[in-house]
Amino acid sequence: MRTARPLFIFVTLLLSIATVQTERRGTSQATDERLSRLKQEAAADVERMTVFTQQMVDQIFSFGELGFQEHETHQYLVDVLRKNGFAVEEGIAGIPTAFMATWGNGRPVISLGSDIDGIPQASQKPGVAYHAPLVEGAPGHGEGHNSGQAVNITAAIAVKRVMEREKLPGTIRIWPGTAEELVATKAYFVREGFFKDVDVALFSHVSNNFGVSWGERANMTGLVSVLYSFTGRTAHSAGSPSRGRSALDAVELMNIGWNFRREHLPLEHRSHYVILDGGDQPNVVPRTASVWYYFRETTAAKIRDLWALGDTMAEAAAKMTGTDLQETRVLGSAWPQHFNRPVAEATFANIQRVGLPGWSEADQTLARAIQKELGSEQQGLHLKPPEELDGPARDNRGGGSDDIGDISWNVPTVTLRFPSNIPGLPGHNWADAIAMATPIAHKGATAGAKVQAMTMLDLLLTPGLVERAWTYFRDEQTKTIQYEPLIRPQDTPAIEMNRELMEKFRPAMRKYYYDPSRYPTYLDQLGVSYPTVKR
Ligand SMILES: [Zn+2]
Repeated sequence: MRTARPLFIFVTLLLSIATVQTERRGTSQATDERLSRLKQEAAADVERMTVFTQQMVDQIFSFGELGFQEHETHQYLVDVLRKNGFAVEEGIAGIPTAFMATWGNGRPVISLGSDIDGIPQASQKPGVAYHAPLVEGAPGHGEGHNSGQAVNITAAIAVKRVMEREKLPGTIRIWPGTAEELVATKAYFVREGFFKDVDVALFSHVSNNFGVSWGERANMTGLVSVLYSFTGRTAHSAGSPSRGRSALDAVELMNIGWNFRREHLPLEHRSHYVILDGGDQPNVVPRTASVWYYFRETTAAKIRDLWALGDTMAEAAAKMTGTDLQETRVLGSAWPQHFNRPVAEATFANIQRVGLPGWSEADQTLARAIQKELGSEQQGLHLKPPEELDGPARDNRGGGSDDIGDISWNVPTVTLRFPSNIPGLPGHNWADAIAMATPIAHKGATAGAKVQAMTMLDLLLTPGLVERAWTYFRDEQTKTIQYEPLIRPQDTPAIEMNRELMEKFRPAMRKYYYDPSRYPTYLDQLGVSYPTVKR
């Protein structure tokens, strides 16, 4: 009580100063207040859509489709978007499972993307903290690409309602990162002009915490994905081996050459391969063989150097074995990512405003149990978002890639990482699927949608933000480096990839498609008690 009177005077003084400042700053303060209020309303709307968000996350999880074969996912998303007032162009850039959805008119044009494809061998019952495939050997969402479209679509619907109510001009586009695990489509979207009139691209990607960064992305690479095919001559492997020329020998010698050279390549590079064709049977000298390489580096120029070295190895292996190297095929490509500073700053502020979801004891129990199962640190789920915005990589040690890189060199872009998965997992593994149709993924997607909606409102209502994004893009990002696609003019999307594999597993997987008309959640449909952990 002693401080009541002085405090009252102090507050009154502050308020009167604030009033004077408000009058001085006039419209800018009013704009800020309006923006803040609209963000609040959009977030509340996202919160009201939690069931809708959860159903999208669970539905796409249950499809578990591989890159270029996302037919169920595609049809489902197109239906959802049309029902919500978007005009949808299907089969864009010659890719049957790619679309461009549009709503609204005028500027700014905000383009929302997120990946949709799964991982081979990742079939897994959600909510179960040990390896328990739904269909043995089948693909599944062992990265979490089932969650990002829910983030973007929920956010877009909330923002669309604000735009209708407030009569705000602007266009929202939504598209899928088709076949991202093959980094096989976004460069074609760019080549076909789908980003020509875009002001800002907001990408979303699953993670185990919130995150956003600007500049060169740390511990990431770009890549080119190349298929080397050799042709030899068949002969009886025992009866007349001297008449044969083995294409498999060429594949093996190329790989041996590459693996010796690997010691003398820059430490941050990554390269790996699988043999797609190794011949037919041992008593027939293999006439055909092929090996599929990913060459990863931290700059486009270094990627080209690695690629040229790969070509040299392949040509040399053909010479050594008396076989022919066929025309190489580019199956995918990704520029290293570079994200936009002003848009990343806006996104980061929204992350701070939204904060992480409240995890239940069941969520934490699942997280700790899978961490224990894998021998990772039993840290559970993150409790705080990052305190600082990540800037450009200082000492890039290399790592994975995403073809959002190509888009990021064409228009100002950021990736919003949202908290729908568990820390300490190996990536591209069944373990990365266990959270992805549970309350962890659902709550993470809702939180992600709030941030995404707020950043869209920033772009619509903050004077000069889009301009500042372009100033950074022109004067800093692309001042010395200009985008030259890694795909060559003759390359086309490798849409036949994964067809056979998906055809093999789809009949068994279909039995597990989620039916939201009968079950509130996918966990309910599967009869999984949450969480299921080893005793
Ligand atoms: Zn991904």
